[in-house]
Amino acid sequence: MFENEYLNRVYADVERRDANEPEFLQAVREVFDSLELVVDRHPEWEKAGLLERFVEPERVMEFRVPWVDDQGVTRVNRGYRVQYNSAIGPYKGGLRFHPSVNLSIMKFLGFEQTLKNSLTTLPMGGGKGGSDFDPKGKSDAEIMRFCQSFMTELYRHIGQFTDTPAGDIGVGAREIGYLFGQYKRIVNRFDGGVLTGKGLSFGGSLARTQATGYGLCYFSAEALKHLKNDSYAGKTVVVSGSGNVAQYAAEKCSRLGGKVVAMSDSQGYIYDPNGIDLVKLFDIKQKRRARISVYADEVPGSEYHAGCRNIWGVKCDIAHPCASQNEMDAGDAQKLVDNGCMAVFEGANMPLTPGAIDIVKANGLLYSPGKASNAGGVATSGLEMSQNSIRMSWSFDEVDEKLHGIMRSIYKACYDASVECGKPGDLMVGANVAGFLKVAEAMMAQGVV
Ligand code: NDP
Repeated sequence: MFENEYLNRVYADVERRDANEPEFLQAVREVFDSLELVVDRHPEWEKAGLLERFVEPERVMEFRVPWVDDQGVTRVNRGYRVQYNSAIGPYKGGLRFHPSVNLSIMKFLGFEQTLKNSLTTLPMGGGKGGSDFDPKGKSDAEIMRFCQSFMTELYRHIGQFTDTPAGDIGVGAREIGYLFGQYKRIVNRFDGGVLTGKGLSFGGSLARTQATGYGLCYFSAEALKHLKNDSYAGKTVVVSGSGNVAQYAAEKCSRLGGKVVAMSDSQGYIYDPNGIDLVKLFDIKQKRRARISVYADEVPGSEYHAGCRNIWGVKCDIAHPCASQNEMDAGDAQKLVDNGCMAVFEGANMPLTPGAIDIVKANGLLYSPGKASNAGGVATSGLEMSQNSIRMSWSFDEVDEKLHGIMRSIYKACYDASVECGKPGDLMVGANVAGFLKVAEAMMAQGVV
């Protein structure tokens, strides 16, 4: 499978031991494909069991989360925290509340997060957590009780120098507020840096809400300029999802001159040939917490189509998958190619299946993996922690400027590593190799731990 024997042996072991974790295997395999280009140069890695250690999370917690719903019925969900790798800093990574959450998804996200955090240039290790709790249709009081119960177990595993969670799918400002409140109550300390994505009145950072989506567009603009001497100006853009990442990616690429014509949720997608009215979309999603189909009910000239995957049949120049893992398969990617799409920049984590990546790359589209292009969220979480530590708040423009600079550095690190590996412009190889080399160096320096 791999040309390098060491990679083969380690991957075969992962396949055997984690046979029932398809998303984790998928993420490891993609990274190993890229490491093929550097592993021969580092015979010391094998002696130190570096890859064997890298594919094993440092610690995995799985716990019961009991809570009582509004009808007085006791419910039980499963909570997780994967403390994946702390070689370059305290574990850092979001919490996801979604019914699909399981150990495989938590481990793949922790693995990806480790490499992503390494790319940000900030000292953060990788972690991820969450629960199979479904926030949809729950009252505020139910969400609060669930978050309090979740934190009543999680608090003992986290801390500003140990592990600092943030949001992800199903976990936004409301949930972080409830989680922080319960943490503070239990430990009797205002440890602002223990959670990021906090509200502005209690230690949150300006621009954190926008950071992942904005960062995605900063990275993409850099790639378009450097590799194609092009920009968002005049481009038709499709953004899947309509959550935090999708909303602010749509806003920023519109400001950079692109026209976003389609967005989705897990049930279907909207198409608006005039460009999505983002004021309307934000109102539907952020204030009313309604389905995206409401947009087509209220905006003349727009359409709603059932089935979220069909969004990839909409003709566009640039595609930003910003919903969830494996949301675009080979057939979807082929539709983009057939419609003349020039670039796919990932906002979500691992949204393209391996088959989709092959098609996108084989047809010469620009492509960036989420671990590079969506790293602006965690980078700004790092900036939130810095502000908490120095007990100051930076202005929106200051944070946005730092975010922009970080995304430029990430692009440069990915591009430089792609050149170093003899694959100039292959940002997937560049991201995997640049992210891994820093973690590897730190792990080697710290001995067999
Ligand atoms: P949100 O919960 O805010 O939004 C998720 C969006 O994706 C919703 O529109 C949701 O639709 C849709 N969605 C969720 N699951 C699926 C699915 N299985 N199939 C199709 N659509 C789906 O999450 P975020 O915007 O925060 O996260 C989106 C992606 O970005 C995830 O991959 C996340 O890991 C990644 N990410 C997020 C960061 C952040 O800062 N928030 C940082 C870096 C990466 P519906 O409402 O119908 O469920």
